[in-house]
Formats: sequence, structure tokens, C-alpha cells
Amino acid sequence: MKPSAPIIHDLLTIPRTLPSGPVNLIGISRALMLKKLLEIGTPEKQVKMRAAQLWQWIYQKGERNFSQMTNLSKNYRELLSENFILEVPKVISKKCSKDGTRKYLLQLAGGHEVEAVYIPEEGRGTLCVSSQVGCTLTCSFCHTGTQKLVRNLTSGEIVGQVLIARDDLGEWENLSGTNNETRSLSNVVLMGMGEPLYNFENVRDALKIVMDPEGICLSRKRITLSTSGVVPEISRTADEIGCLLAVSFHGTTDEIRDKLVPINKKWNIETLIKALKDYPRLSNSERITFEYVMIKDVNDSELDAFRLVKLIAGIPAKINLIPFNEWPGSPYKRSEWPKIKKFADIIHRAGYASPVRTPRGEDIMAACGQLKSETERQRKSKKEITMEAGI
Ligand code: SAH
Ligand code: SF4
Repeated sequence: MKPSAPIIHDLLTIPRTLPSGPVNLIGISRALMLKKLLEIGTPEKQVKMRAAQLWQWIYQKGERNFSQMTNLSKNYRELLSENFILEVPKVISKKCSKDGTRKYLLQLAGGHEVEAVYIPEEGRGTLCVSSQVGCTLTCSFCHTGTQKLVRNLTSGEIVGQVLIARDDLGEWENLSGTNNETRSLSNVVLMGMGEPLYNFENVRDALKIVMDPEGICLSRKRITLSTSGVVPEISRTADEIGCLLAVSFHGTTDEIRDKLVPINKKWNIETLIKALKDYPRLSNSERITFEYVMIKDVNDSELDAFRLVKLIAGIPAKINLIPFNEWPGSPYKRSEWPKIKKFADIIHRAGYASPVRTPRGEDIMAACGQLKSETERQRKSKKEITMEAGI
């Protein structure tokens, strides 16, 4: 069969703008919403109130049908639906793990797919959100990094994942009167597919809505953005977003980190550590999380643990040890438990919290680093994709 052109386009470009067509009000900033409402003829005197009402409907009541927004006049509701849409990604499937983890496979405009994962914990629940379809970085231990198809998510597609999880958890009805502490979806982590700092503006706009008291209304301390180490964007994260930061560290020498996290060849350990030391707002109550995936015989020696402690000296930090999660064809094995324990002890004795992250949702391939679009999972090699595209 003759290959279709869009596949070639997908392979080569990362769209940075919203898809054309009617404007989706979900995910746009307040300022842009005011502008759009003025453009359709909303009187200037009313525009702030109309935007506040829309935000309440969309982000606090979960309403995605203009006709149900009963505190707006019928004519105005019609005007809105003639000019705008309220769209979130389509849920293609939901898998539930025996440990309660839920994985959503979502389809975006254009047919691309991403995954989002909800992890229930004692008294709280965390949604792991994706920021890109695939990832341009190719960390050798990460399933997402093997996916060739890459595009940035729009801010609406990022916030949309939170709305979808709230739908599924039936949380809209129970929302009024609850605070961050008692919600099923109490925390958001940007640790799904993609490198969030390679999609900075859209991630920032989405997280601002998640943190806005009239939006999703989660405190900024309940939001963590994880980066593989895009150094130039690190201080912007503090200045323009203000959420907590996690860094995928994984290697204590440039030689090891170059192999595991190849972005290290661009910004090496020394440059990264300097950027983290300069990270504004750092204090003991707002520490940087160092993520460290434990891979058998690669980065799990006692020497590695001592080197890690030395490298991060002076940075208020917590070290999150992640036992390596295997995926089909993965080139590594998980470190053995005694080694993980020894590593954790050394870090703990140096005065840092060193929790070991319990793998969640492994039976549905929802654990850290196992995410990959379902359709991509079936594709085997770049050669095959290239052949399909007829390049
Ligand atoms: N791109 C960002 C965020 C997504 S990855 C980043 O790299 O930080 C989220 C976390 O999962 C990162 O800490 C990543 O290193 C970790 N991870 C990736 N693959 C993994 C695997 N196979 N097992 C365990 N953790 C993994
Ligand atoms: Fe991308 Fe993060 Fe996976 Fe590396 S670990 S390939 S940066 S998603």
C-alpha cells in the first residue's frame, strides 16, 4: 500500500503550536481566554467575570458542554459553542493493576497516543502526566526513549489528562469542601512520556492552571516536574512555574551518565550540579529530588553511592531510588535488593532521605519508564517505520 504523507511529517517535526481549527478553551491561559472572549464580542465590563465563570465550570465542575453552563445566558452559551470547543484527549482504554494503579491510553488530535497513570496511595493519589508523544532523548534504560514518533503535547492535552483522571475517579461531585489533603487526585508529577523542559511553554501554561486556586487548585508543593537535565531551562522552571523539581540523575561519572542519559554529553554532571545549586527557592522544606534508577552492575556499587553523596553536597536534596523496571527488549536488569538496601543506607547515613520507590502497576506496564504508545509498541525498528513511510 502507498504510504501516507503524515507519517513522514510526524517523523521529522515537532509541532509547537495548537492545531488549527476552533480554539479549545481548555488549557489556554487566563490572558488568552480574556482576549478570545473579547474577540467574540463579550462586553469589556463583563469579560473578567465571564472568564472566571468558565474556569469554574471547566476546572472545578468538570463541565465540557457549554449548554449546561446554567449561570450564563442562553444566547451567550450559544455564542460560545459557535466559536469554541472544550476538548480533552479521547480515552481509548483503561487498564487497572491489581495494586490499584490505573493506566489510561489516550488519543490526541491527529491520532497520536500517550499514556497517563494514576497511582493511589494511603490518603492521597498521584497522577503521572505525559508532556510529549515519545521523547527525542534516548536514555538507554527508558522504553519511551525507544519511540521514534515524537510531538509536543499542547497545554490543553496536558491539563486534559488531569480532567480525564478526575472524571474517572468520580471526583467532581466530591470536590466541594475538600482540600488538597483529602482528594483522590492530590498530586501531579510530570514523569510520564517525554521531556517536559523540551515543551516548556505548554507545560508551564498547563501547570499554572493546575496550581490556580480557581483552576484545578493543587498547591505548587504537590506538583513535581522531572527533567533529564535540560540545564538552560532549569532556572526558568523556578521563575515561571514554581513547582518542585526532580532530576533524573542515574550516573555518578560522566562516563556512566553519558551512556544512561545521553543529554549528559551536552550538559555534563558538573554543569547540571551548578544549575541545581543555583536553583532559586531551595531550602530544607523545598528540596530537589534526585531520581536514581538502580541498574544491576551498571550504577549500583557502594562507590557510586559515595560519589553521589559527594556530588550533591550542599544541595537540599532527597534521593529517590527507583528499582529498574524491565520492558520488552530492555538491555538491563534490576539491581538486587541487598545492593539497593546498601546503597540507600550509605545515602541515609550521609543525612539524606533515600526512599526506594515501590514499583507500581508493573503488571499493566505502567511503572516508571515502561510507558510507550500502544501502536508504537507493536513497531519494531526505525527501519520498519521508515519503510512504512516510504522514505
Ligand atoms: N523525561 C523526564 C520525565 C519522564 S521519565 C525525565 O527523564 O526525568 C520519569 C522517570 O522515570 C525518570 O526519572 C526516568 O529516569 C525514570 N525511568 C525511565 N525508565 C525507567 C525504567 N525502565 N525503570 C525505572 N525508572 C525509569
Ligand atoms: Fe525521555 Fe525521560 Fe525517558 Fe530519558 S528517561 S528517554 S528524557 S522520557
